[in-house]
Amino acid sequence: MKVFFARAQMQHRPTQYGVHGRLVQPLENPNRAATLIESLESLGLTVGEPARDLEADRAAIERVHPAHYLRFLDTAFARFQELPHAGPEVLPNVHPYFAAARPYGASPLANGARPEPRTTGILGQTGWYVGDLSCAMTEGTAEAAFASAVSAIAAARAVLSGDGAAFALCRPPGHHAYADRASGFCFLNNAAIAAELLREQYGKVAIVDFDTHHGDGTQTIFYARDDVFFGSVHTDPSAYYPHFLGHADETGHGAGEGCNLNLPLAFGSGDGEYLAAVETLAERALGFGAEALVISAGWDAHHADPLSKLAVTGDAYPLVGEMLGRLGLPSVIVQEGGYSLAAVSEAAPAFTGAFMGARA
Ligand SMILES: [Zn+2]
Repeated sequence: MKVFFARAQMQHRPTQYGVHGRLVQPLENPNRAATLIESLESLGLTVGEPARDLEADRAAIERVHPAHYLRFLDTAFARFQELPHAGPEVLPNVHPYFAAARPYGASPLANGARPEPRTTGILGQTGWYVGDLSCAMTEGTAEAAFASAVSAIAAARAVLSGDGAAFALCRPPGHHAYADRASGFCFLNNAAIAAELLREQYGKVAIVDFDTHHGDGTQTIFYARDDVFFGSVHTDPSAYYPHFLGHADETGHGAGEGCNLNLPLAFGSGDGEYLAAVETLAERALGFGAEALVISAGWDAHHADPLSKLAVTGDAYPLVGEMLGRLGLPSVIVQEGGYSLAAVSEAAPAFTGAFMGARA
């Protein structure tokens, strides 16, 4: 199995992350990528730089993200630096009142994207496009986010050209990125971009997300679609990130009704509940008629993760890998969260080894 990692992803090195009323060092940092590379190489896998095709890559990203949002990402750092007394990184200090209840599918892209904002200033636009204080942008952030998406694009292209499966080592991660909003350490939705590419060849694509956080960005992008199933096991969002989406009664909208499945777990849930949920997601993906699979792989349900509220152990990950590998579908694995380097180096190779073994 090929593993794709674009080195430029390392250029995203923010120094600030707002949590519980303080700005602290971000949990999402380049060390995660280094640990993941080492973990996957320990399985004998080779981590390769993806080939780039600027125009085609941009077009693949624009299938999910509107051009005005990409323009913001590309220019935000330089524009922000022109503010008087600007800090080291782009961070929002205003937010629009935007109705989360606005009907889905109203945008021309039908993926929840809002229109381009009327505000032309960098502060207003930062509030519009950046959802929380986990997405501080440095000079290299836009390039790193693009490189992360390029890694997912390369993995999807490998599968389209006949590889059974490919691994996209994406960092910054993607599943909290909305079509037009960065949040939760995420800028571009790598899993959604991969799924859209797979759709070129496969009529129905399923995305299975086992990160401990609900993939609110991915859900919203596909919420009104009947050709992409989104299924997620995650921590109950009632008092947990992403706070506003991820409940069991969110089942899709319009044509997409029934194509979204959320399986929130109560705080303290362990391997039994977690694995039963993954099994349900796998069954539902097959029942949906998926011809290809995107796996949003996060390792932060592990009890050792600093963000985890679950009691999932390292023993669960090979079983998750086996369940998803057994589906035998053309698959793109997309790296999402996981912030304990010890847990990552246990869970990622255990999952990946079992996934490959089950497909063999
Ligand atoms: Zn997560």
